Parts: sequence; structure tokens; C-alpha cells
Amino acid sequence: MTSLNFTCLDDYDPNSLSVERARQLMLDTLSPVSGHERVFVRQALDRVLVEDVISPVDVPAHDNSAMDGWAVRHEDLAPTGETRLKNIGTAFAGRALEGKVGAGETARIMTGAVLPPDIDTVVIQELVRVEGDTVIIPPGQRREQNVRLAGEDLRTGSPAIPAGKKLRPAELGIIASLGIAEVSVRRRVRVALFSTGDELCSIGTPLYPGEVYDSNRYTLWGMLTRLGCEVIDMGVVKDNPASLEAAFREASGCADAIITSGGVSVGEADFIKQLMQQLGEVAFWKIAMKPGRPMAFGRIQPDGAEKPGAWLFGLPGNPVAVMVTFYQFVRPALLKLAGVSPVAPLPTLSARCVEPMKNGKGRTEFQRGMLFQENGEWCVRPTGMQGSGILSSMAKADCFIVLEPDREKVGAGETVQVQLMNGLV
Ligand code: AMP
Ligand code: MG
Repeated sequence: MTSLNFTCLDDYDPNSLSVERARQLMLDTLSPVSGHERVFVRQALDRVLVEDVISPVDVPAHDNSAMDGWAVRHEDLAPTGETRLKNIGTAFAGRALEGKVGAGETARIMTGAVLPPDIDTVVIQELVRVEGDTVIIPPGQRREQNVRLAGEDLRTGSPAIPAGKKLRPAELGIIASLGIAEVSVRRRVRVALFSTGDELCSIGTPLYPGEVYDSNRYTLWGMLTRLGCEVIDMGVVKDNPASLEAAFREASGCADAIITSGGVSVGEADFIKQLMQQLGEVAFWKIAMKPGRPMAFGRIQPDGAEKPGAWLFGLPGNPVAVMVTFYQFVRPALLKLAGVSPVAPLPTLSARCVEPMKNGKGRTEFQRGMLFQENGEWCVRPTGMQGSGILSSMAKADCFIVLEPDREKVGAGETVQVQLMNGLV
């Protein structure tokens, strides 16, 4: 069985772990899944590159013009006063000038056209007067202006995109610009997902008194899908040891990671925790945060070292706590498993908070907020009731307002740190 080695971090206290510390512990413990595949450029969107893309060519391949204008030899230009040159033809993008531009001559040149031999400078057409065959260039032209040099973007043999990059449209463009049709990407992370709770009812069935519809599986499915994971939805599992054990065994046999919701809070039946620990090596953390204080992290490996098992993220049951813990911990952890390197935190900006807020001492509070601009300044407003079961205020939010552990109060108009999350899962 893999040893999680949490104990080697002797100064950590599972009863009060800071958000940063918990996140770091997870990231230090995890390593990328193995396995990769070759895919065509379009299929590579949002996939993670496993090896550097090395440029097989210079980009651009030739010195060429950055503007529509006139191709000149800088040495022909008079340092002061106008220069009169003879027009000998046109260089088009994709159709080079036939012949050479000699001393005292110029050629019309279009954007992207290959520079004729000996040409080192392009003068934009707006600056130039043309009288019949004569082209009159004003003084003050810089050598190599409006010229794109061969290899100035990428040199042959240089790394164009580093391994660990999640490929976005810009990278697809770079790959295509190098003439490359296929790249190697890491296989998707497989995540098995189930909700726990006797009170949970699946959509499509009537709700009996005391029951709630299982919503977590849908938000989690959405977040996992957005992250590019392969999701195995195992439904709702009742709070009984046999069903839970069967679910953990099945999940650990087919997935890299298991995400559960519910069953890790103090008031929950202890057997869920016992079971998690019995089936693997699991730490129960009380994170100094709100919402999302209880959380389990570890490895489920029911057959010991014989089978690889799966990482476990045991999230709290409350729907907002599920989302907050996902953004703070599961997102970076899954990115690490997916081979993304470096794993960047959610972008943070300073904004003026337009309403007063309170925080309990010694913990980080994540309030749901909505950003807006006022007089060119970013401002933020909480989106309403902040209870950890109130999903509607999460749906209105585009950011988290982060209240640090040492910040008990925020007055209206004070600056706060805001974590962007819209579109980031
Ligand atoms: P627990 O962490 O299991 O104690 O659950 C905390 C709260 O979250 C309870 O009110 C549960 O009913 C609610 N809850 C747990 N799981 C879900 C779920 N999958 N969908 C919606 N609410 C849930
Ligand atoms: Mg429960």
C-alpha cells in the first residue's frame, strides 16, 4: 500500500489545517496518472501535453513584411531629406518578387510577402508619395522596421510548448503553425463519483417527507466534466456499511480518484469514516475554513498493494461546501493528477467590498460574491445568504470573497481579496 507519509510532516494538526497547508499536502502527495495517447490537433483542445512540442522549423520561415508598403535597402536612404527610388514590381504574400531590388530601386510589398534579397526595411505605404515610376520616401526610416525576421517567433529545435501545458486555442494554433498534425497528451483522469446519505432521493422519483434531491452529483459531474475528467457516476449510496463498502471497492477498481459527498462531518455515523480507513489510508481533516471544514483525503486500496486503488476526496455534504472544497482542493489536485504543470492557483484580485462582512477568528471564509465595475474600479458584493446549503447564492456568484483568518470584520468600502472562479471549472 502506498504510504501517505502525512505523519512525516510533524507540525501538522489534522484538527486545524489551513487551506494552503491542506492544498500543499495534497499536491505534494499526488503525481500524474500514467498513460498517454496521440491525438489530432483539434482533439488536443483542453488536453494536457506529455512532452515538449519542439519546433521542426523556423517560424516565420522567411524574413517577411509586417505591413503593406515599400521594400527598401536602408543604405539607399538619405539620412536627411527625401529619397527617390524606382519602382520595379510587387512582392505578394505567397508570390515572391521576381528578380532583385538593386541600388536606387524599390518594390511594392504586401504583408506576409517574403523580403526580396538585400532588402532590410519596409516603409509603410501611407508615408510614401508615388509619381509615375518614382517612389518618394521621407527621411527618418529605421533599419529593419516593419520586418518580421525568420525564426523570431520560434527557432528550429527550440521548445514551442512545454510538457504539462493544458492546450488552449493559442497552443492549437502554434501546433498547426509548425505543420504538426498530432501530439501526445496524457490520458484523462478517471473519477468515480457517488453521493452518500439515507435522506437523498434521485431526480425522477417522488420526494418523501424528510428527503432531499441529490444535487451534489450534478454539480460535481459538471465541474469534473469541465475539468476534462472522465466521470463514472455511481449514483446515491445509502448510509450502510455493506453498500458503502461495495461502492468503494467498485470505484477503486475502475477509477484514479473517488469523490464522495456527505458522511464526513462530526455528526455523521462513524462507520463511514471507519470504513474509509479500513479500506485504505485516509486522513480526516478539519480545515480552518468556512464552508467546508470537514474533509477526508487519502487512498482507497481494499486489496492492498495488489491493485492500484484510487485517491479519495471525501467532501462534506452541504452543496455549497462541496463546491468550495472542490475549487480549493479537488480542482488543483485533479489538475496535478492530469499532469498539468505548474498547477496555478485561482487568479486573485483586490476589489472594494461594498457591504460589511464578518468572519470567525482563525479560519478562512469564502463568501460568494459578484464583481462589478464602478468608476473604473473593481467592486464586489456578496450574493445574499451565505449558509452552506444555499446553492442559489452560489449560482449568482462569479467569485469568492476571501476573508483571511486574521480578518474578523470588513467595513463597507474596504479592500478585499477576490478569487475568480467563473469559467475556471
Ligand atoms: P452530511 O455532510 O452528510 O452531514 O450532509 C450535510 C447536509 O448536506 C445535509 O443537510 C444533507 O442533507 C445535505 N446533503 C448531503 N448530500 C447531499 C446531496 N448529494 N445533495 C444535496 N444535499 C446533500
Ligand atoms: Mg449524510
